[in-house]
Amino acid sequence: MCRVAVVTGANKGIGFYVAQQLLPTVSVVVLACRDVSKGEAAARELGSDKIRVEELDISDSESIRKFAKRQTRVDVLVNNAAMAFKAADPTPFVAQAGPTLKTNFFGTVELTEALKPVLTEDARIVNVASLTGRLAQVSPERQEQFKNVPDLGSLEDLVREFQADVEAGCHLSKGWGNSNYGFSKLAVIAYTKLLARTGFKANCCCPGFCRTDMSSHQGTRTAEEGARNAVMLALPDCDLNGAYIRDEAVAEW
Ligand code: NAP
Repeated sequence: MCRVAVVTGANKGIGFYVAQQLLPTVSVVVLACRDVSKGEAAARELGSDKIRVEELDISDSESIRKFAKRQTRVDVLVNNAAMAFKAADPTPFVAQAGPTLKTNFFGTVELTEALKPVLTEDARIVNVASLTGRLAQVSPERQEQFKNVPDLGSLEDLVREFQADVEAGCHLSKGWGNSNYGFSKLAVIAYTKLLARTGFKANCCCPGFCRTDMSSHQGTRTAEEGARNAVMLALPDCDLNGAYIRDEAVAEW
């Protein structure tokens, strides 16, 4: 049987090692990268004839549409690609909300929804989230909204409400937290749990604080170690659903 895994943002960091660790378990690993030349360099380093490099920018709807159209079968989808503004970035907090949510939440959702028609019956969806996506960053009332979100439209409305409140400068008084990145990951975790409640095998993880470009190589573990959290959720024998994993064990959201 030809099992196909798609890993977004697989040209470097945690995604590269997710792809490497998935290689023995599937027939094809698609390195879905916004810069194909970086994907091809990663493919050379991985040195396997099971690799396929494909262009995908998850912040671009047209790129997502074209990518999804080319896929005929997906057994494993690892939504790893994401962005984070550096602490020293001069972009104001209000201006960081839109791009952060567009890539990390809306891009992840758009790609997953576009691939639903080609997901196999037993397909595994793995969303790479973060400890910073903890539920406690929002007020108790907001927490209930996310825990019980009835459908994707309602979740997207909540995310748009956060963005509007950040842009209006009233997000703290409206019960939101003070991190665009953390909130984007909270929303990804909520989406994972919604997928699991609606017939899909979906789990998410925090890879831990890993030494990658995103962390300016300040992490406490290697990307290779962090990748294991996503990989365990991608394996056919994983019987978890709607779980959030940290340090390779089920953790509290
Ligand atoms: P990284 O080294 O910066 O790699 C991020 C990857 O995502 C790169 O391949 C990047 O492509 C890709 N990417 C970014 N925006 C994209 C877009 N619009 N479309 C397609 N690909 C895009 O980061 P990392 O540390 O490996 O992070 C991987 C995942 O782990 C992310 O979801 C991150 O939030 C999560 N995470 C990381 C840590 C940590 O300590 N590192 C902790 C918790 C969670 P380019 O090379 O083209 O930029």
